[in-house]
Amino acid sequence: MNLPFWQAKSLFEMNKTEWESLCDGCAQCCLVKLEDEETGDLYMTNVACHLLDIQTCRCTDYEHRLEKVSTCLSLSIEDPETFKWLPETCAYRRLSEGKDLMNWHPLLSNNNESVHQECISVRDFAQSEEYIHVDQLPDHVIEKIS
Ligand code: SF4
Ligand code: SF4
Repeated sequence: MNLPFWQAKSLFEMNKTEWESLCDGCAQCCLVKLEDEETGDLYMTNVACHLLDIQTCRCTDYEHRLEKVSTCLSLSIEDPETFKWLPETCAYRRLSEGKDLMNWHPLLSNNNESVHQECISVRDFAQSEEYIHVDQLPDHVIEKIS
């Protein structure tokens, strides 16, 4: 039986193209997160990184993102700690936890719009950090992550 690569291979075994194709383009990882210094609790806001094109949910400078945005997540299977910052719908987190892809994932739907149609992406609610003062960030918390 021919299994799709995400079932046949571990995250360690995937090539770059396979690894990149796991991203569904939700841009949830591009939302500003806040960490309570005392408790370590993590919170997600509706404020998006200034490099995010909110309409397409794509980074406007993906190649240089790590140089330009110090808090940008560089996902690596070598550093599984970073996966805790990802939403439960994210394929990297799901596969690392032994789960399958969500049934609307573009690799299954063959439709890059499915992540927006299912309201998983940030397209309809994110606001750019360009317009939000850092002191206002706590007012923009939308979810406790952990
Ligand atoms: S949360 Fe996961 S699936 Fe969504 S954009 Fe980030 S890496 Fe891609
Ligand atoms: S630099 Fe790009 S990939 Fe990184 S958080 Fe910002 S928009 Fe997202």
